[in-house]
Amino acid sequence: MNACDYDLCIIGGGINGAGIARDAAGRGLSVLLIEAEDLAQGTSSSSTKLIHGGLRYLEFFEFKLVRESLRERENLLAMAPHLIRPLEFVLPHNGQQRPFWMIRLGLFLYDHLAKRARLNGSRGVNLRANALGVPLDDRYSKGFVYSDCWADDSRLVVLNAVDAAQKGAKILTRTKCTKIIAQKDHWVVNTKGRGSKKSASFTAAMVVNAAGPWVREVIDDSGLDSPVKPVPNIKLVKGSHIIIPRAYKGEQAYVLQQDDGRIVFVIPYEDEYTLVGTTEENFEGNLYDPRISDTEMNYLCNAYNMHMGDEISRGDVIWTYSGVRPLYDDGESETRAVSRDFVLYEHIESRAPMISVFGGKLTTYRVLAEQVMERLLYLDNRYIEPWSTKAPLPGGGISDGDFEAFVEDKSCLYPWLPEALLHRYARAYGTRMERFLEGAKSLESLGAHYGDHIYEAEIVYLIRYEWAREAEDILWRRSKLGMHVAEATVAALEKVLPKLKKEVLG
Ligand SMILES: Cc1cc2nc3c(=O)[nH]c(=O)nc-3n(C[C@H](O)[C@H](O)[C@H](O)COP(=O)(O)OP(=O)(O)OC[C@H]3O[C@@H](n4cnc5c(N)ncnc54)[C@H](O)[C@@H]3O)c2cc1C
Repeated sequence: MNACDYDLCIIGGGINGAGIARDAAGRGLSVLLIEAEDLAQGTSSSSTKLIHGGLRYLEFFEFKLVRESLRERENLLAMAPHLIRPLEFVLPHNGQQRPFWMIRLGLFLYDHLAKRARLNGSRGVNLRANALGVPLDDRYSKGFVYSDCWADDSRLVVLNAVDAAQKGAKILTRTKCTKIIAQKDHWVVNTKGRGSKKSASFTAAMVVNAAGPWVREVIDDSGLDSPVKPVPNIKLVKGSHIIIPRAYKGEQAYVLQQDDGRIVFVIPYEDEYTLVGTTEENFEGNLYDPRISDTEMNYLCNAYNMHMGDEISRGDVIWTYSGVRPLYDDGESETRAVSRDFVLYEHIESRAPMISVFGGKLTTYRVLAEQVMERLLYLDNRYIEPWSTKAPLPGGGISDGDFEAFVEDKSCLYPWLPEALLHRYARAYGTRMERFLEGAKSLESLGAHYGDHIYEAEIVYLIRYEWAREAEDILWRRSKLGMHVAEATVAALEKVLPKLKKEVLG
């Protein structure tokens, strides 16, 4: 085989690309990850952010997917107890949608399909006698409570990229793959940097196309759609969320069954807000700029109003976001029935392996990465042990996974840090908060203050270790500070970034 620049080149820095980069680098391969924009700028920052088995997929007999997802829920919770946290869901019972026995049976399966070490099992609840019933419409008297997990999706992507880089991977953001060219025993990958006229070429012994909703575009632009082995199709399905001011007290989320058989989640969000989502609408248009439609806005407001005790209208909506699901098109006509499982397509244009990833869930990214690596190495006649099930993600090495004890510890170490700021640092960075706090004795020692508790030390950290380059990367993907900060803070950050980038990156 040719001596290639890299063992593996991955296209796409969403959760799947970053997860594969981490797994491959951890197996000792030399890895290049190419992301056209910022990490997680595609679908992986626009999900409902649940690390979940997917209770409703049981209705479609997706037992394998649900079992795998439930297993991953436990694995990921242990790997990143700072970023991923348990969340209780209240499911009010509505006999018109699904009979009581069906939900009971579904939850029984949900409790038992995979081993559960950290999360509570499901239980029935009298909504008239329990505070959990207060935010709901009066007509509800009984329901169920079960547990799943919640994660900041874009930070999960970044943590995987950070770990990949720590293990030697090269991560190139704002660099687009323009073409993948098959050679007899390797691949050539052409790239172009954003805003640059110059292009570059890399050779790789193996390639993974993990471009999510763009997976077909990458294949088509490279002329890799084989007449001998047709490439699968992708179904692009938009999902939107609305964010309203905090609607109720308590940390629980609600699962609202809709007349069309779908479910809508209502979830506490960023302390001050409530998130309502999501929808399913076929998508055409600019994949980097999906927007909520009037129909989706009305659907979500109605979904909320039909089941919750109060009423909302479009005027209550503070912010919205939309993402596009890159679903493997299995020919099912009904969108809600299309599988959320993933399919790996092996290209045949070269003797060197290349795989394109179709579909998937945030929850199953680690298993997906493991399966991609096993398939690639098999095609490459190699075997290297899988390793990622028990290895903590960066910042996740918290003793016994006890996040509250970790915060307590840190508040003794940094008594001068305001409680909310300490909590934010702990959630976002876990043990890695030491990288910019170690040795600090006061807020002043964190450097310049740009407003709303954003200090220089954190921004320098994000530029140095997390590929943050623009204010939007920091405010919307490395954090959700964009929801909270004043315009003056955004302006101050935008102003100082060129100087800080020069100092940090040279
Ligand atoms: C509304 C919604 C809600 C969801 N909720 C959940 C949930 O609660 N739980 C769950 O488990 N899953 C959920 N999902 C599914 C999950 O979000 C996706 O499966 C996952 O984020 C897809 O990740 P990805 O890496 O495949 O794609 P993406 O995150 O889109 O990443 C692909 C990347 O490839 C890059 N790219 C594209 N073309 C090129 C190129 N030519 N060169 C270089 N880079 C390129 C893009 O910029 C992008 O960053 C949800 C999805 C949606 C849309």
